[in-house]
Amino acid sequence: MQVATVTSKPLEVSMKVPKKVKGEVVKDKEVTERLKIVGAYPYSEQAQNLYTNLAVMELIAAYMPQEINADFPIPKEFRGLIQKMYLWEGEKSPRIRAPRKELDFSFPKTERGKVAVAYSAGKDSMWNMWWAREKYGGENVLGVHIQGLNKAVAKDELDHALKQKQELGFENFKVIELANSSKLTGHEVMRSRDMCLSAIIAPVAIQFGASQMVTEGFGETKDAYEHFSGVAQNLEYFNGILEDIGVPLQVVWKNRKEMDVVKDLLKNKPDWLTLVNNCFCPKCYKPSNQRYWREVAPTLKLYDSQCGSCVKCRITNIARILHDPLMQKATEEDIKIYLTKTIDWIRRKKDEASDFIEGSFIRDFKRACKKYNVQIPDDIKAIKDK
Ligand SMILES: [Zn+2]
Repeated sequence: MQVATVTSKPLEVSMKVPKKVKGEVVKDKEVTERLKIVGAYPYSEQAQNLYTNLAVMELIAAYMPQEINADFPIPKEFRGLIQKMYLWEGEKSPRIRAPRKELDFSFPKTERGKVAVAYSAGKDSMWNMWWAREKYGGENVLGVHIQGLNKAVAKDELDHALKQKQELGFENFKVIELANSSKLTGHEVMRSRDMCLSAIIAPVAIQFGASQMVTEGFGETKDAYEHFSGVAQNLEYFNGILEDIGVPLQVVWKNRKEMDVVKDLLKNKPDWLTLVNNCFCPKCYKPSNQRYWREVAPTLKLYDSQCGSCVKCRITNIARILHDPLMQKATEEDIKIYLTKTIDWIRRKKDEASDFIEGSFIRDFKRACKKYNVQIPDDIKAIKDK
């Protein structure tokens, strides 16, 4: 049986867990993982309590150990949340041993008209920023970027977030620096990610006076296949916990389909999207992808951060082909080449990237093909666009 031992220091949680290879525990081998906030952060007992409890959830989410021994209190509300995550992910409820002690989560009061936006520098956080600024006014909106949550792209994300803050004139912006050794990768990060992220941002948001924190919505999700924190009803449950323990902040989201996010930004903030950081392509492959598109479709200008070939770039570019006035500078021939090559790409990727391809992407891809007289083969026609 896998047993996790979790210890905490101020704003740091470490976990020791037996190593598993192909589902089997390796005798006498342990893995240590750590999540720590470094740099400026509103240090308080309440912030520490919130951080410790959600960081433990994030660390165990990669392993789902059957026994969790912690040297800090885990209140019943968060034990319940951890159990719910296990059940959602098809695991048996773990045994949690931790000191019993009442924890204080009573932060100062917040204001109704102030919000924080979880800001990754991608198109969804740009959309949320646009929406929040329209609704509440720029002075009442705080952008918060967590550096280090996705280690592989941390530096790139931070650079783009700071550039956007500067060039788009966001008045209030904070960066939280996280030292993260979590091995959680790929889609599994969504077991706990949105909740952990919200808890890390909460003290900073509350210090600003925000009563709401805007996070990514669920425009395209198909609940049955989603991990625990990627589902609206589970985030609603999480909001219930925040309310019960007296945290004066709720997580909110707007559901907008991927393609419509790009369309809205092109319509309302056309200069914003040129700075987007949304590419999934590893840095080492990006230059060769960019070179490829410069050769095959030279008038179709990619944004600086785009590789042109990954799923995120395809989404943005198909929306641009439909809605971006700047795309009219591209020749019809180059747009046709991009669409035709995307047909091949969909065929290659439709299983592994079906989450992205089905739904609004394929809907708008078909529209773009019609607009530019590119014949849509039957197998592409058959892909679900709702
Ligand atoms: Zn890309």
